[in-house]
Amino acid sequence: MIKKVLIANRGEIALRVLRACKELGIKTVAVHSTADADTMHVRLADESVCIGPPPSRDSYLNIQQIVAACEISGADALHPGYGFLAENAKFADILAAHNITFIGPTADHIRLMGDKISAKKTAQELGIPIVPGSAGAVNDEAQALKIAAEIGYPVLIKASAGGGGRGMKTVRQAEELSLALNAARSEAAAAFGDDSVYIEKYLERPRHIEVQILADGRGNAIHLGERDCSLQRRHQKLWEEAGSPVINTEQRAKIGKIVADACARLQYRGAGTIEFLYENGAFYFIEMNTRLQVEHPVTEAVTGIDLVQEQIRIAAGEDLALRQEDVRFTGHAIECRINAEDPVHFTPSPGLITHFHAPGGFGVRVDSGVYSGYRIPPYYDSLIGKLIVHGKDRQQSIMRLKRALDEFVVDGIRTTVPLFQDLVNNPDIIKGDYDIHWLERYLSQKSV
Ligand code: ADP
Repeated sequence: MIKKVLIANRGEIALRVLRACKELGIKTVAVHSTADADTMHVRLADESVCIGPPPSRDSYLNIQQIVAACEISGADALHPGYGFLAENAKFADILAAHNITFIGPTADHIRLMGDKISAKKTAQELGIPIVPGSAGAVNDEAQALKIAAEIGYPVLIKASAGGGGRGMKTVRQAEELSLALNAARSEAAAAFGDDSVYIEKYLERPRHIEVQILADGRGNAIHLGERDCSLQRRHQKLWEEAGSPVINTEQRAKIGKIVADACARLQYRGAGTIEFLYENGAFYFIEMNTRLQVEHPVTEAVTGIDLVQEQIRIAAGEDLALRQEDVRFTGHAIECRINAEDPVHFTPSPGLITHFHAPGGFGVRVDSGVYSGYRIPPYYDSLIGKLIVHGKDRQQSIMRLKRALDEFVVDGIRTTVPLFQDLVNNPDIIKGDYDIHWLERYLSQKSV
């Protein structure tokens, strides 16, 4: 069994992992930059190690310092959280070389899914439905024109090494293709040091629906249902639900089984998420995330399964204790990401939180490391907490969310709470009638 886990992250997710460890009776080691000495996860951990100055590249991304912190503290395992080093295959290799258990998949699986072309090819081979498009990288204009004509316009050019929505270009007609292809390639080269791009059909009004899986690396895998993360701004999710308002029990079981069977055949190990676009009743694979997701608590709410504890058990070499029939879905859950940002312009709003009061009561969970008197440093992403509500159905979750948002007090900085207070009263949101472009359309109408 794992005895001591080093948590290679910060903020709400570091605290989330720490809580799971404590409940399993596992010792915890926090690491932090000099800007994060006063954070909750550092205060609550059994030990803490300062790993460098504020910039992430010198601290949370500094592999040498983190491995040294494992050696100093005697941690036998490491949880990467999400972001930072969570999907860095080289890091997973280095930990293995130091005999430190990485609470995550194998380095080979991280590599396979980190490259979008190989991920898409693998998904297709495993029987997962994909977006129609080029079979691999597209090298020249003639080839691009031929593929685009076959699948029909509009098409989307995507970077194989892509992430965060960068290197993507929508092309509506053949005349625009050459320019877009060159632009996508140079953007990809600049952002990722790899100019390979591929082409797929551009879906006009899809929803973003993703399936959570757990697998033990020995050919056993289960799914934990889907999350609908269609409400996004600049490809950043802001509001997530489990289940999706448009997916019924049969569809959930069907896509869930396809994905779980694929992960079993891959001998995947750990928690993972298969992301799909969903349009007109069909699922189209876009990528796999080989880590815990920010929005995992909505799945925990409807299944009652602690995903981080399952990750730790799997990493410790235990067989998957759950069978598919043990997974029962109860009610509906919604998560709102509370960002330290202006709710209209989304400019970052770091600084001193003069007063913080989190909502509570039946069916309410708040994952946040901040408190009254905490100063949000300007160096990291703006997520300061997540509000998760669980109700017997979607309607009750929305009412619960409304009252929980009214209880939320974060003084001294601006947050996204007022945006969610608007959204819970919006007729489209109440009906569950939205696609991946809905939020941007809504925000652009609001600002005129
Ligand atoms: P990244 O890793 O850069 O975030 P993804 O492949 O996950 O790239 O896509 C990010 C977002 O781009 C999706 O959530 C969706 O909003 C949009 N997108 C991706 N592929 C398509 C497509 N074929 N048609 C329409 N929108 C797409």
